Amino acid sequence: MSDLTYFDNNATTRPLDEVVEAMLPWLRDQYANPSSVHQFGQFVRHAIECARSQVAGLIGADAKEIVFTSSGTESIQLAIRGTLAFRKPRKQVIVSAVEHSAVGKMTAQLERECFEIIEIGVDHDGLLDCAELEERLSDETAIVSMMWANNETGAIFDVERIAKIVEARGVPLHLDAVQAIGKTDVCVNDLPVSLLSMSGHKFHGPKGVGALFVKRRTRIAPTILGSQETQRRGGTENVAGIIGMGVAAEHAIQHVADDRKQIEVLRDRLEQGICQSTDLARVNAAGATRIPNTTNIGFRGLQAEALLLLLSESGVCASAGAACSSGSLEPSHVLQAMGVDQEYAHGSLRFSLSRFTTSEEVERVIELMPTLINRLAALGMR
Ligand code: PLP
Repeated sequence: MSDLTYFDNNATTRPLDEVVEAMLPWLRDQYANPSSVHQFGQFVRHAIECARSQVAGLIGADAKEIVFTSSGTESIQLAIRGTLAFRKPRKQVIVSAVEHSAVGKMTAQLERECFEIIEIGVDHDGLLDCAELEERLSDETAIVSMMWANNETGAIFDVERIAKIVEARGVPLHLDAVQAIGKTDVCVNDLPVSLLSMSGHKFHGPKGVGALFVKRRTRIAPTILGSQETQRRGGTENVAGIIGMGVAAEHAIQHVADDRKQIEVLRDRLEQGICQSTDLARVNAAGATRIPNTTNIGFRGLQAEALLLLLSESGVCASAGAACSSGSLEPSHVLQAMGVDQEYAHGSLRFSLSRFTTSEEVERVIELMPTLINRLAALGMR
């Protein structure tokens, strides 16, 4: 897999070498349980608390406000379910129409449990209809959960405005910042936000570790019972994962501003190069402010899955939207909510870059696309 051209960084990123190196001792030698009172255990506990401070530092939080979990998905579901337990008898949950399936699956389950789910629409660029949010908030609303940056299009919601609207009604706000961390400035001090989810593997940390910011004095009920994480998340900690996430957070604090500029230049070149090479291409959410690493391009009349397979045969990894929904022939719910024409929605690909993406890789894809498009046309897959 050494000559892969990897444009699927919103699915997951390559862990930094320093992350992997930092994790190894905690997998092999420092294996004590951080809850043990002996010195060996307390040594591990201390390392976890250092990582907690590093992760808190990334979003301007206090270390006490960070709860480690197994993933972004778990953080999101802990935030929503954990809040609902303290908001009885309110039964209304407000989300956007373009949330990640970690939210979508949760709200589908809540609906079966007789909660009322309200989905706020987005415009053609994937941006939230804030007037609708204002209108739909009510005394019945238990929680509002919104994504910060969209994993498929990269569109960034106006979270300052959303947070003000929600705060005015005294409702707790959860933000899914999984795709925003490391790609745009995320600071919980600047925002009236109660809860915020992150995931280590989206910013060059390891998989299987996430974190939930829980603002001081915000109450959440655990979804996994146990004494760890100040009783907010039971289960012996993923020590190596937490250490790795801490190192990735520290690295992001120091390098993201520079990385972002470089990544955005490459993303813009890729987008422009592809769009100039064929008149079938159109950028989705082009009018939105987007995270700098993501482009979602619709190819009129083509099938995204077929294009992805041809790219994959050439060693290029891209995606047809959310990693979990690729393989299905349904256009993504995100593009549908944006009202993207069907002939473009069926042929939309996501390219997501990282600090490891090179200009040679970008040029390679730009050169490849017209050939692949012609091959599809020859196969009659248009
Ligand atoms: N939220 C968003 C916006 C995502 O893009 C993802 C993963 O793709 C998640 C949540 C889930 O994160 P994890 O893979 O850590 O469960």
